[in-house]
Amino acid sequence: MFTDSHAHLDDSQYNGDRDEVIKRAAAAGVEYIVNAGSNPKDNALVAEISGRYPGVYAAVGIHPHHAAEATEADFVELRKLASLEKVTAIGETGLDYFRNLAPEGDQKRSFKRCLGLAKELALPIILHSRDAEADSIEILRSENAQECGGVLHCFNGSLKMRDEALRLGFYIAVGGAVTFPKADALREAVKGIPLSRLLLETDCPYLAPKSVRGKRNEPANIIEIAQKVSELLGRPLSEIEAASTSNAGYLFGVGIRTQGKIVYEIRDQLYLNITNRCSNHCAFCIRNGTDFVKRHNLRLKKEPTPAEVITAIGDPKRYREVVFCGYGEPLIRLSAVKEIGSWVKKHGGKIRIDTNGQANLLHRRKVAAELAESVDAVSVSLNAQDSACYDKMCCSQYGEGAYEGLKEFVLDAKNHIKDVTVTFVTVPGVDVERCKEIADKELGVKYRVREYGKVG
Ligand code: SF4
Repeated sequence: MFTDSHAHLDDSQYNGDRDEVIKRAAAAGVEYIVNAGSNPKDNALVAEISGRYPGVYAAVGIHPHHAAEATEADFVELRKLASLEKVTAIGETGLDYFRNLAPEGDQKRSFKRCLGLAKELALPIILHSRDAEADSIEILRSENAQECGGVLHCFNGSLKMRDEALRLGFYIAVGGAVTFPKADALREAVKGIPLSRLLLETDCPYLAPKSVRGKRNEPANIIEIAQKVSELLGRPLSEIEAASTSNAGYLFGVGIRTQGKIVYEIRDQLYLNITNRCSNHCAFCIRNGTDFVKRHNLRLKKEPTPAEVITAIGDPKRYREVVFCGYGEPLIRLSAVKEIGSWVKKHGGKIRIDTNGQANLLHRRKVAAELAESVDAVSVSLNAQDSACYDKMCCSQYGEGAYEGLKEFVLDAKNHIKDVTVTFVTVPGVDVERCKEIADKELGVKYRVREYGKVG
């Protein structure tokens, strides 16, 4: 089953046959569609349409073209709509200096405001960036967009934008332009998108792929786009289909019927599950095979806000330890970790973070000092004896720099957090004895060997 991660089925071009278009998509194998709004009127409509069709979801936002018209009341309404169950993202939002239909200052303000809302409501963003690369990157960085995550919609082939999006842990959506005869540069750039970060989109009614170019586009045409991507990446179509739909599940929660647990107990510890996003794609990750840990469903439909997590914790003193863990990398949401951790400590609990150690890379600064007040212990998955082994095992979005980055995080964490441990899993290919030596001699921290396949 395919997912069209970006469509505009609210467009009036579908008023006569929306049902048929959605039926044709289902017949072609497109089970999920994310409809993106662009302005207050569209937002209300995409939200309403998502209520009518089980596989259709909505995103609500202010497109840069509409940035100048958006009023205070529109942003209030946007927040209301964003809280609806089938609204999965804030978007479209971003900058468009190609058509420049709104002054740049208004576009920037609206983009920042949408990003702020996304972070507050723990929703990803759908980023529209056209001829505005430098400013888009500057805002994504300064507003810590990695904390909410998102997708670079309508990827145009810019290597700079692709690499920046990947660095921030964003997904990249490939659309019909990849099939156009003159799009060689785009096709080359698509080859550099890891499967774990790929989404497909039609952007219908626009950008119909080659075989129907010039006609009204529709979600069923995603298959032609997927076939081209399959050819470019040299992977079977079924793999592109599975990966892009699974990625849409991680990012938007599409296809996930029930919200996984945001807190769960194992013995005398309470685990917190605040995100399913991760900067790694480890070969041994339990998520590859199941949504469950010790019978707790951890697949999130939506990431919880700090307030929701705090309510779910209750009295932290009831537990020996409260642990950020779950089905993703908690330090992607650094601000949420700090807020929740501080609250737990203030109320007499003890906090540990289980992390892949890539927080410095994610946030482009050393973060351990910021965690000192809200964390008692940190456990970092070292997982490998060298960078090549780590890269093979963990497929980090930071490539070969990931291993050195995590070691730097451990060394810095020792200066600010009293209890620092590294762990390694007994997976074939990992030299456990060498890992022990690295923990002892190079990093000067405790270690714990974890048995492959055993959790909790
Ligand atoms: S770092 Fe952890 S959550 Fe992320 S992919 Fe690896 S095992 Fe899974």
